[in-house]
Amino acid sequence: MFEKILIANRGEIALRIQRACREMGIKTVVVHSEADREAKYVKLADESVCIGPAPSTKSYLNVPALIAAAEVTDAQAIHPGYGFLSENADFAERVEQSGFVFIGPRPDTIRLMGDKVSAKDAMIAAGVPCVPGSAGALPDDPAEIVKIAKKIGFPVIIKAAGGGGGRGMRVVHTEGALINSVQMTRTEAGAAFGNPTVYMEKYLQQPRHIEIQILADEYGNAIYLGERDCSMQRRHQKIIEEAPAPGITDEQRQRIGTACAEACSRIGYRGAGTFEFLFENGEFYFIEMNTRVQVEHPVTEMITGVDIVQEQIRIAAGEKLRYKQSDIILRGHAMECRINAEDPFTFVPSPGKIESYHPAGGPGIRIDSHIYQGYTVPSHYDSMVGKLISYGDTREQAMARMRVALSEISISGIKTNIQLHQELFMDAAFQRGSTSIHYLEERLSQMKKGEA
Ligand code: ADP
Repeated sequence: MFEKILIANRGEIALRIQRACREMGIKTVVVHSEADREAKYVKLADESVCIGPAPSTKSYLNVPALIAAAEVTDAQAIHPGYGFLSENADFAERVEQSGFVFIGPRPDTIRLMGDKVSAKDAMIAAGVPCVPGSAGALPDDPAEIVKIAKKIGFPVIIKAAGGGGGRGMRVVHTEGALINSVQMTRTEAGAAFGNPTVYMEKYLQQPRHIEIQILADEYGNAIYLGERDCSMQRRHQKIIEEAPAPGITDEQRQRIGTACAEACSRIGYRGAGTFEFLFENGEFYFIEMNTRVQVEHPVTEMITGVDIVQEQIRIAAGEKLRYKQSDIILRGHAMECRINAEDPFTFVPSPGKIESYHPAGGPGIRIDSHIYQGYTVPSHYDSMVGKLISYGDTREQAMARMRVALSEISISGIKTNIQLHQELFMDAAFQRGSTSIHYLEERLSQMKKGEA
């Protein structure tokens, strides 16, 4: 096992990884920008290294600074967390070439799955069901593009091969708008992701977002840890997640989970990963794979008892998977609210000093957050300041516990979206479960109009 790991991230996930390491007796090196100098997890780390000024391009995305930090501290491995460089194949390669272990898949796997066109091709070859769409990238010829769209049937969605974070997508309802939309998505994708390649998919009308968590070791063993429902989204960004997904049968779970685990063995996947699907009319359609730990991993941990971050570390250290598929038993129900420093209804970010903070507690409540009273939320990064997670024997109990926790937790000095979560946990359709990916935005526009 490693003696020392460098954590190439910040915020709650830096703390989460640090906790996993400390529990395993592994020393931690935390890197931080000038804006994160005062963070508590920085003080709790065995060593810390300032890697640059506040803007992430100069710090958390600064590859030479990260490698140098690992060198001067004698760290053996680097955990990238999520976001930042976690899905950057060139970074993973640099880490390995510099003699460190990258806690994640091999660089060529990240590259394969990071391009959504090649990822889809690989999944089709592995027998994983995909959203009907263009066979690979769209050609240049407008007539060809129209032909493809007509074959798929409107509405279609144009997506950037290199897209991520809910950006680089455009829905097209009519033939008249098609070519212009393809052109605009190409231009945007080139500017945002350095890759103008786009592809086309059928735009599903009322799907749910359901994803499968997997773990795979380097010896070809792979298991699935059930699914999560992440349909509560705004601008393609998740805000509430839960596991298991309401209404998914054991048979459906087993079928799609087995397909994902088999695909992992087939592509030589190593580490933790997530296959994301849209789910409509009882069918799963693959959209993309995340080759890293995800924000919402705790809900899976709560219902399986598996510490996903620790398993990532064990796999990276070359250990064989400790679990067989039959060891994974789903028990109870877990829900997660992403707590963001933003106005609950306009979503304008609200960085600043936290004047007071009272966390929630009690049976079945977990908070993954790095904040404390007196902490200043910097304006330079993502607005998520923590995750409130509830667990219960049933979905109803998990929801009831979340409602209590949301009424207890209080953060003042900055605005947060806690009030929005309070309202959503009272919402009748959400309480019934199985709402589609469009539900939250529809609900928000009703709230705006004062209809609900
Ligand atoms: P990203 O990498 O930016 O997260 P994804 O491919 O995972 O992009 O898609 C993000 C979200 O966009 C999905 O969860 C879903 O809400 C929506 N979406 C993507 N593809 C489709 C599709 N074919 N039909 C309907 N909605 C889609």
